[in-house]
Amino acid sequence: PSPVDPHAFPDEQAAESALRPGSLAEFRGQPRVADQLGLVLDASKHRGTVPDHVLLSGPPGLGKTTLAMIIASEMGAPIRISSGPAIQHAGDLAAILSGLVEGEVFFLDEIHRMSRPAEELLYLAMEDFRVDVIVGKGPGATAIPLEIPPFTLVGATTRAGLLPGPLRDRFGFTAQLDFYETPAIEHILVRSAGVLGIQLRPEAAAEIARRSRGTPRIANRLLRRVRDYAQVKADGRVTEPIARAALELYEVDELGLDRLDRGVLEAVCKRFGGGPVGLSTLAISVGEEAETVEEVAEPFLVRQGFLMRTQRGRVATEAGWRHLGLTPPTSGAP
Ligand code: ATP
Repeated sequence: PSPVDPHAFPDEQAAESALRPGSLAEFRGQPRVADQLGLVLDASKHRGTVPDHVLLSGPPGLGKTTLAMIIASEMGAPIRISSGPAIQHAGDLAAILSGLVEGEVFFLDEIHRMSRPAEELLYLAMEDFRVDVIVGKGPGATAIPLEIPPFTLVGATTRAGLLPGPLRDRFGFTAQLDFYETPAIEHILVRSAGVLGIQLRPEAAAEIARRSRGTPRIANRLLRRVRDYAQVKADGRVTEPIARAALELYEVDELGLDRLDRGVLEAVCKRFGGGPVGLSTLAISVGEEAETVEEVAEPFLVRQGFLMRTQRGRVATEAGWRHLGLTPPTSGAP
C-alpha cells in the first residue's frame, strides 16, 4: 500500500488525528495559505457572517482535512465530513445539507469525484443556501425549494483543474497547498515527537524530514516507523544512525522515494525505454490504480525533476535515470 494513503492503515488514522494541529497559529509550513485563510475567517467573524466557501487543492497528506478542522474550530462551529465518492445520489447530498446547523463547516473531500446531479444540487446550495427537492416523476414532477442554514463548504481536491468551472467559481477562496520545505517538516516532526513522547535527536529529525517528500503525513508516519525500530533494536531514542537504518529497512531512499515512486520511475526507464508512456499502461505495469500513480507518485517525481508529463505520455529525465543508477540513452532522453 502507498504510504500516503491513510485508509491503507486504518489503525494509523487515530495516530494521525492525535497529531493534527488545532489552530491556524499551530499550522506551520504554509504561511501564505495560513495568512490568507486567517484573514477570510477574521473578516467573517467581524461581519458576523459565515465564512465564504473554501477550496483546498494539493497532493494527499499536505493538510487539507486538518485545515478544514481548523476552520471549524476557529469559528467555534461543528464540522460534518463526507467525500465525493460517498455521495452517489443528489438525494444523499440533500439529506446532509438539510441536516446542517447554522455556521456548520461541511468538509467534502475528493469533491471532484461527486456525481453530476449532486454537483448541480451543490451549486444552488452554495449560492442561495437552498436545495430543490424533486417530488414525483415525469411531467408531473415538481421542485420544492427547501431552505438550508448558511454553512461553509470546504472542498478538497488533489487538483483544482479537475473541477468543472462553475463549481470552482462558487468558492470565495481557493488555496493551493504545496509540498513543504524541509525545515517546516523538521518542525512538524519535533512537535509530533513531543506529542508522542519520542526522544528525537535534531539530526535524526533532519534526516527523516529530508526523506518525507515534503509531506507532513509521510513525515509523521516515518517517525512512527523509526520509533518502532528504535524501541526494538535500540533503547528507544531516535538518533541519526537509527533513523537511517530504519528508513533503509522501510525502503525509503535518501531523497524520500519509496517503493511506489521507484517502481514508477523504474518502469518508465527499464520497461518503456524512458518513455513516453501513457498513464494507464504505466499504472498497469506497476500494478497500481492510475489515480494513485497520477496523484501520489507523479507529483513528487515531477517536482524532483525525475519525470515529465508530456502530451504523448510520461518521460523519464536524465536525472531520473541517474537516480536509479542507470545510464540515460544518449539520444532521445531529455
Ligand atoms: P488527504 O487529502 O489524503 O486526506 P490531507 O491533505 O487532508 O490528506 P491531513 O489528513 O490534513 O492531509 O494531514 C495528514 C497528516 O499530516 C495529519 O496527521 C496532520 O496532523 C499532519 N499535518 C498536516 N499538515 C500539517 C501542518 N501544517 N502541521 C503539522 N501537521 C500537519
